[in-house]
Amino acid sequence: MFAYLHNCAIFKIIELMNNKVRILVNGIAFILMIISFTSTTKAQVSESIFPTYSGNDLGATYSPDKTDLRVWAPTASVVMLRIYDQGIDGQCILSDSMKKDLAGTWIYALKGDWKNKYYTYQVKIGDKWLNEVADVYAKAVGVNGRRAMIVNLKETNPNDWGNDKKPVLKSFNDIIIWEVHTRDLSMHASSGIKNKGKYLGFTEKGTKSPLGEKTGLDHIADLGVTHIHLLPPTDFHSIDETKLAANKFNWGYDPQNYNVPEGSFSTNPYDGNVRITEFKQMIKTLHDNGIRVILDVVYNHTGNTTDGFEQLVPGYYYRMTKDGKFSDASACGNETASDHPMMRKFMVESLNYWASEYHVDGFRFDLMAIHDVETMNTIRKELDKIDPSIFIYGEGWTAGNSTLPEEQRATKKNAVKLDRIAVFSDEVRDGIRGHWSNSKQAGFMCGKNELEESIKFGIVGGTKHPQVNFKKVNYTDAPYVNEPAQTIVYASCHDNPCLWDKIQLSCPDLKEPEKIKILKLANAIVLTSQGVPFLLSGEEIARTKQLNENSYNAPDSINNLDWTRKTTYKEVYTYYKQMIALRKNHPAFRMPTASMISQNLSFFDIPKPLMIGYKLSNNANGDTWKDILVFFNGDATDTEVNIPEGTWRIVANGNEINEKGITAKGFEKTQKGKTTVPSRSMLVLLDSGSLKK
Ligand code: CA
Repeated sequence: MFAYLHNCAIFKIIELMNNKVRILVNGIAFILMIISFTSTTKAQVSESIFPTYSGNDLGATYSPDKTDLRVWAPTASVVMLRIYDQGIDGQCILSDSMKKDLAGTWIYALKGDWKNKYYTYQVKIGDKWLNEVADVYAKAVGVNGRRAMIVNLKETNPNDWGNDKKPVLKSFNDIIIWEVHTRDLSMHASSGIKNKGKYLGFTEKGTKSPLGEKTGLDHIADLGVTHIHLLPPTDFHSIDETKLAANKFNWGYDPQNYNVPEGSFSTNPYDGNVRITEFKQMIKTLHDNGIRVILDVVYNHTGNTTDGFEQLVPGYYYRMTKDGKFSDASACGNETASDHPMMRKFMVESLNYWASEYHVDGFRFDLMAIHDVETMNTIRKELDKIDPSIFIYGEGWTAGNSTLPEEQRATKKNAVKLDRIAVFSDEVRDGIRGHWSNSKQAGFMCGKNELEESIKFGIVGGTKHPQVNFKKVNYTDAPYVNEPAQTIVYASCHDNPCLWDKIQLSCPDLKEPEKIKILKLANAIVLTSQGVPFLLSGEEIARTKQLNENSYNAPDSINNLDWTRKTTYKEVYTYYKQMIALRKNHPAFRMPTASMISQNLSFFDIPKPLMIGYKLSNNANGDTWKDILVFFNGDATDTEVNIPEGTWRIVANGNEINEKGITAKGFEKTQKGKTTVPSRSMLVLLDSGSLKK
């Protein structure tokens, strides 16, 4: 019911039209051929037509003495291999047909050293030649990804790569995610970062804004998040890597080569080695600074169908409708078929490769519900073998209808069938901010009531809790996860207006100090909730996209982080940093199980709308603090609430967080029986006994 409109749809429609034209040009026979191989049923994706290859040597296997190539193309009658001395233009130095081998694969043995040569495949089906394309298993490519490249991966390792050590992560419940686009971090002049828009921008230490605030890497480390989540950093189509001076921007949800970093973020997209080394350098430096790295992966569709999968094995890698069209649950013109064995194998091997070769710490699946539950659980199992601390999560929805039966989809509703894979909670997101597709609609943060139960849903990390009335929760009427680490709690991401803009749009008449209070309140809910908190980069400096609601291809001037705002909104930054520290210092906010949550977290019955309060008891999850009271007031007026008998000390209000107790003038030191929760803010109180310890 609730599909999240994907923002690449517009340029995809144009691309799809181009695809159709190309298909027509290729002739009616070609179309008939596609239809003959395509199907919505598994029966026709049969082993006899599409035998599964079980080896792990698809792609190029390099050694200084020889390079072995293997490609899966079971419906081909001929597969041509071409080798070039460059990634674009240049000479074709070898052109030969490959040899048919087992299970629909074709092989070629290149004797001698073929390092840094580029190669392509071209498949003939019936009497039709398909497009000459890069190997879908390419580990390196030339500029714009049109040709695969043979590389010696060992030579791509940066200094000390062998000693790369991941920051400690004891539990998924300890994760705090910060989502960022590679360009956003550094493009603004105020970043002080030299390698603007590049992977290397993440490796620069000591960078400052002209006003002296830490930027880039130092900013992330200082903020205290545990993971950064990179918007798709793997090769995509929409940026012409030969025209980088044009400084075009795109989120990158139009995948091209899945096993290769995007070239436009490297300092030299022409030499396929460079982007690999620089990507590894980025990860190494982030690890050295205590930050883990998550990749946003977009296996659910491809940027086009005129290269890659469709040109090697037409009709296999995608789901097709009964009338032979591409099924389109991505709203981007096609959807891949993870339920087909060789697509599943492709995904598993690709993810294993990123985890092992690049030491990646997590994966965020775009439109994960296009993938089937079995594939996602296979991915979990295979990644466990490399590193069980790799975190996996995704969007538990599609952007359109799929031919995959609903019970097989990796949706939120089916999250209980997923093994240690989390889903985004749009319930709490829209509860906090208001409806995603109606930017003018206010949420709890801007004083809209009747969203309290959706907020409570997030507070308990989406788990079953006796005091949450699930009938009143947005978009779901029941919990859909077993444990809190399966729920991503968030108020904003790259989609739709960032928080500061959403506040301008949904409560435009407020004065700026009120808007600042709301910006703090929104993520105060997120950062004290059970589950896994997720922040869009820059919310902590009141980032604005100047009210742009879909910035997927907007210029850097809209998307980038303006670091001068860190000075202007210093109090916001300080507050976010304190909230993150509070969460990290207190395990009560990150309980690992649903039963522990329902045992130790109890909501107060507050009859007033826009007031939510709860108590964390019993030194929850081993916390040094015995009893903690947390209140959120979404209303424009201060509200008095009853609190349990005893002496309580305020440790957080809308202005500051001080774990030793707030003693600043104007604030009471202790509270008995009743307390006032100031308007549009969080209030956290602690039993005074815990403070003395
Ligand atoms: Ca690219």
